[in-house]
Amino acid sequence: MNYISTRGEAPILGFDAAVLAGLARDGGLYVPETWPQLDRADFATLARLSYAELAARIMAPFAGPHVSEAELAMLCDDAYRGFDAHPDPAPLRRLDDGLHLLELFHGPTLAFKDYALQVLGRLFDLVLARRGERITVVGATSGDTGSAAIEACRDRDTLDIFMLHPKGRVSEVQRRQMTTVLADNVHNIAIDGTFDDCQNLVKTLFVDTAFRDRYRLAAVNSINWARIAAQIVYYVHAALLLGADRRLAFVVPTGNFGNVFAAYGALRMGLPIETLVVATNSNDILARFFASGVMEIGTVHPTLSPSMDIQISSNFERYLFELQGRDAAQVALTMQHFRERGAFAVDPEILVQARQTFLAARCDDARTQDVIRDVYRQDGLLVDPHTAVGIAAARATPLPDGIDKICIATAHPAKFPDAVEAAAGIRPPLPERLAGLTGLPERCASLPADADALRRAIAGTLQTRGIMA
Ligand SMILES: *Cc1c(COP(=O)(O)O)cnc(C)c1O
Repeated sequence: MNYISTRGEAPILGFDAAVLAGLARDGGLYVPETWPQLDRADFATLARLSYAELAARIMAPFAGPHVSEAELAMLCDDAYRGFDAHPDPAPLRRLDDGLHLLELFHGPTLAFKDYALQVLGRLFDLVLARRGERITVVGATSGDTGSAAIEACRDRDTLDIFMLHPKGRVSEVQRRQMTTVLADNVHNIAIDGTFDDCQNLVKTLFVDTAFRDRYRLAAVNSINWARIAAQIVYYVHAALLLGADRRLAFVVPTGNFGNVFAAYGALRMGLPIETLVVATNSNDILARFFASGVMEIGTVHPTLSPSMDIQISSNFERYLFELQGRDAAQVALTMQHFRERGAFAVDPEILVQARQTFLAARCDDARTQDVIRDVYRQDGLLVDPHTAVGIAAARATPLPDGIDKICIATAHPAKFPDAVEAAAGIRPPLPERLAGLTGLPERCASLPADADALRRAIAGTLQTRGIMA
């Protein structure tokens, strides 16, 4: 598969180069030249595969010819072996009201990010070892990407990882999951600012081609296509669990639009998805877009679901590219407008088209707490605040009869114990994976939201480690 930039001015790359590149050189995002097609006749065969085998099968057309299905099969087997709930790392659970939850918190850091990042870390190793190369991963996290990426990259000889998080704006569990990893190649940096500041810093470094080339920067954020490809897998998996003849709607708690874009990818590949419900917290830029056709940045409000406290959804550009008929020049223009004025609008007929697939609902903190309490009372189940935003959106969005609604349960409740306890009156028990975190020493640098300071920190660290002159 070849990869093209949403802005049309970057070189066309194969899978391995696209995975290493992250952001395209023109500031756009890499997307596959075509959408591989799932054949409905194959669904019976696919349903018999293990999760790891299915992952290799679904990712193979995206990864070939550089990475073969056999290589992917080995890599995925290794990646998902460490998940709980073995043999199915992504089980479905049905709530009392008929809503299905797809539990994506059985990986090492207890959020859905593990499902893609455990694969990506191993992909980096495979591709880099073959090329005899080394990279510097630079990422920004609103909480869960950071720990999942660090867990996937720690102790790998082929890379160093620098992870930026907004100081004081991630939960204590999230912070400790990152800062207690003392591996030599792992570097945590707390930034004085918001997640959007962190993400903008990362983007600034990536468009600085001199710096980017010198340090071989690579991305683990969902701008990396391998993450989207690996996330498409669990949508197919959920459909197979329910039976392939069903009509489906997925409800996805959304921040960066990565997870829900993977659902859109599954739709484009032929999964019988009728509706995608974008669930946002009070940082509702996406909900406002799907209501009005206007994308307009507001200010970021801290909420109970911090991994969605985002105003600029990077991955939306990939959807915009599809929505604007894959017209890269048009996308480049729209994004320029967005950068300069903090807003853009799409034509009314484009909005109509978007709303044929996407609906959106917003849920504030009070409602999030109500849902956590209600689900505990009705189903005896504790859900995390992000999942609760999804459940609220599912309940607020009526759909025609005969459509199965599946809400993505994006994190384990124990990652957000204070919010869950405040709402449900009971503290989620700490799973074994988190039990030892509290007493461990932490290591983390601290920087202002300033690109030069970040450049100096990265250069200095790699020099001290003897990796760069
Ligand atoms: C990352 C994250 C989200 C948002 O996912 P996006 O792909 O950024 O839309 C939602 N919930 C949790 C728990 C997360 O970690």
